[in-house]
Amino acid sequence: MLFLARLASLNALEQTRGRPWWRWWLGAGLPSADTLGRVYTQVELDELRGVLYRLYRAARRKKVLRSRKRGLWVLIVDGHESHASYRRRCSGCLERRITTSTGERIQYYHRQVTACLRVDWGTFLLDAEPMRAGEGEVAAALRLVTRLLRHVPRAFDVVVVDGLYAQAPFFQLVRRAGKHVVAVLKDPRRDLLQDAQGLFRVLTPQIRYRGRTRCQVWDQEGFTSWSEVSEPVRVVHSLETTRVKRQKDKTFEECQATWYWVTTLPVAAASSAAILELGHGRWAIENEGFNELVTHWHADHVFRHHARAIEAFQLTAFLAYNLFHIFVARNLKSAHKHLASCLHWARLMTADLYTGTWDAPGRLPP
Ligand SMILES: [Zn+2]
Repeated sequence: MLFLARLASLNALEQTRGRPWWRWWLGAGLPSADTLGRVYTQVELDELRGVLYRLYRAARRKKVLRSRKRGLWVLIVDGHESHASYRRRCSGCLERRITTSTGERIQYYHRQVTACLRVDWGTFLLDAEPMRAGEGEVAAALRLVTRLLRHVPRAFDVVVVDGLYAQAPFFQLVRRAGKHVVAVLKDPRRDLLQDAQGLFRVLTPQIRYRGRTRCQVWDQEGFTSWSEVSEPVRVVHSLETTRVKRQKDKTFEECQATWYWVTTLPVAAASSAAILELGHGRWAIENEGFNELVTHWHADHVFRHHARAIEAFQLTAFLAYNLFHIFVARNLKSAHKHLASCLHWARLMTADLYTGTWDAPGRLPP
């Protein structure tokens, strides 16, 4: 309810303790903010993750989740920093030195790797794993993907990641499970990138369009210059030109962007256009997933600064986010859906929390 009503603190939730339906719903009154915070420092994270996985399995079985790309289930794995502080710290905090106007200071922060499925209505938040002190983001991602492969092995066919993850251990883990990877390729020191650039200079690109953007696309399989990965890989390069109207003098200018992706997906399974769509789709996790969680769900708020509580509140936010979006996408009749934004439905839920007087099962809202 805290997240569904988009409340920014446990104290705000505590102020709804007088609502009669808490007693009906919980069989007892709502605990105090202090108690809720304390309980969250002791929540079993495996059980909370189990609830997320069960929701995923039920939704998939009932076809509430449909893949965005026909027949191909796409998992996006990416890092996210939740908050930073110079003063407060816990056992799960990471540390970094920051140069400020008053000298060098130690900043404490939390960062986690998140796994989201791209589905037809947006992003299903599947799991997250915090980064531990002294390790890299990819180490946390390896734990996360290993756990997903154990608990929801059929959830995805391809993992789409940033350039940071174009590392042999990550590729090998995914490939051993019979899945594929699409990763941004951007490190100019790499033999693979240099090889691809050399070859693409003498090949003629295909021309594709993504909306108003003209893409010159080079696509080649069989690169063996990444020796740590035991199979040849495919590189797709897109030089993208978009005409943009300048607000100042209404003239047009051309903006260019260059992309390289390395993938294990064969051409037979995904065309050049599909790789472009998958690669650019990685931004969905930022736009649809985390921006929304942070802006509208207060998911970055530290409800209780404690390593386990931070993780548990975040997983709970994932659960609320998924349930809310499943409700909007599948429960609302399409005639209603187009009348109002997601925020409108969220505000109605908040209004119900504050004003709802339903105190018996027969009086549940429709
Ligand atoms: Zn901390």
